Amino acid sequence: MVRRTQSNITGDDSPVEETGADGRSLRKANIIAGRAVGELVRTTLGPRGMDKLLVDDTGMGIVTNNGASILREMVDHPVGNLISDLAVSHEDEVQDGTTTTATLTGELLGEADELIDRGVHPTTVANGYLSAAERAVDALEDIAVEIDANDTDRLIEVAATSMAGKGTLIDDTTIPALLVDAVRRIETEGDVDPDDVVVETITGAQVGESTLTDGVIVGKERADDSFAYRVEGANIAVVGKPIELRKLARDADVGVATPDDARRIRENERSEAVALVDHLADIGVNTVICGENIGEPFRALMAERGMYAARRVHDDDIANLARATGATVVSDPRDIQPDDLGHAEVVEETDVGGEHKTRVEGCASAQTATLVLYGSTKDVVDELHRAVEDALSVLALTLRESKVLPGGGAAETAVSLALREYAPQHDTREQLAVDAFADAVEVVPRTLAENAGISPIDGTLDVRAAQATGTSTMGLDGETGEVVDTLDAGIVEPLSVKCLSVKTAAEAAVAVLRIDDALPKRDEFDDEASGPGPASGMGAP
Ligand code: ADP
Ligand code: MG
Repeated sequence: MVRRTQSNITGDDSPVEETGADGRSLRKANIIAGRAVGELVRTTLGPRGMDKLLVDDTGMGIVTNNGASILREMVDHPVGNLISDLAVSHEDEVQDGTTTTATLTGELLGEADELIDRGVHPTTVANGYLSAAERAVDALEDIAVEIDANDTDRLIEVAATSMAGKGTLIDDTTIPALLVDAVRRIETEGDVDPDDVVVETITGAQVGESTLTDGVIVGKERADDSFAYRVEGANIAVVGKPIELRKLARDADVGVATPDDARRIRENERSEAVALVDHLADIGVNTVICGENIGEPFRALMAERGMYAARRVHDDDIANLARATGATVVSDPRDIQPDDLGHAEVVEETDVGGEHKTRVEGCASAQTATLVLYGSTKDVVDELHRAVEDALSVLALTLRESKVLPGGGAAETAVSLALREYAPQHDTREQLAVDAFADAVEVVPRTLAENAGISPIDGTLDVRAAQATGTSTMGLDGETGEVVDTLDAGIVEPLSVKCLSVKTAAEAAVAVLRIDDALPKRDEFDDEASGPGPASGMGAP
């Protein structure tokens, strides 16, 4: 392939010939794939977004409105994967905003496609986009609104905005209010680790019956009927491996020749079980929670000593319990030491949604809360669970940074206006790219309008006009399609989610534009191409 020259990078180009037909068609194909990914998730955006039914190889389906899930499950094209990976890494960082990121990426690629067709070099488009993304983040910071961490209503709005359109929760503040309550319980000096809120999902009841409890719920009942229902002042052994007789004793039937031998083996077995349960009792254990089976002789002895035990407990529950009670998960209970034990005020068998489970309350670590989510079917409750995870992260972020943005396309419209003002600071061709970025971010109000059933063009223009004469908080009510002051209407999102969406989308689009044998590798690109201009700070991953 021909190496492009300096002049191509800086923009006075019609360089497309030099990249060769292969590079051009490769890039075109990639752009189409990237746009398709954006289009795929775009219809799910906002409170009136449609759900997708995802079906995996085994024919199992899930119904979701969660952009990251859709991307993870559906996308199978190198460029699609690139976008999907970026969106998923975005999700790892801030959980929410994935649909926006993927939608914006698709839109940026669509705009880039047109510019390239008009003869603008892809590198020029990339530079313009990176510059625009930096300015966009500044604009977002400019319009962000400081909020008070004690403002419960505001926090509920933040959670509700994040959950809008998910799990049939339109207009419902029950779950958002529970989430704020949960986050308050686990908060230490403004810092919240969303993982401290344990989420249990149960089908068969209405979403509105969901509750918040202290402590942890372990999804298993007592190991058998001989155990106590309830233990107070629990010292808990959390065991990951089966509590069974050692293999040797079991296999010893090789040596069983006489009835005496058989009795001796049984006695050995019993004394092994006694030794273990004695050891547990000696160090004060009165509760045993085991991830695998607890063998019969052990159960009998534990029950005799008035212990509580649950077996075949799910890994997640084991991890949650250990975390909440301060226990160390041991694999062999014969080695357990007092330090390994977890502590709680009460352990008891309880009825949760018609199923017998174990409730552990008054845990040693004060920072635990369990949210019990109900839903009529597994689909409903799983979707709700995904939305709750997002909303919890969003709340944690909001408490940390105390800054929110107006939602409903208001922030994007403000960014778009700022970029149009900023564009003329670039040379002619890069300016086209910055303007294209300004058009692309309006995909958010456009789509919210469309999904609310109003004309996307009117919706976008109305918001733009309202901001031109009013404030940057004017946006769309995603349910009615009306232009409202979104801050007053309680449509608010954390600043960093939107900033990350804009940055990630720009990086993803630029990465796709750069896939072309004729384009230089990144280092080379930086050396040669980072002329003056604000683009140099950000690069493709
Ligand atoms: P993402 O994965 O990007 O978070 P969502 O489907 O959650 O996608 O949609 C988020 C968008 O929906 C944001 O732009 C947010 O401002 C907007 N939104 C949420 N609730 C409302 C509402 N009630 N009215 C208007 N827009 C809303
Ligand atoms: Mg969201």
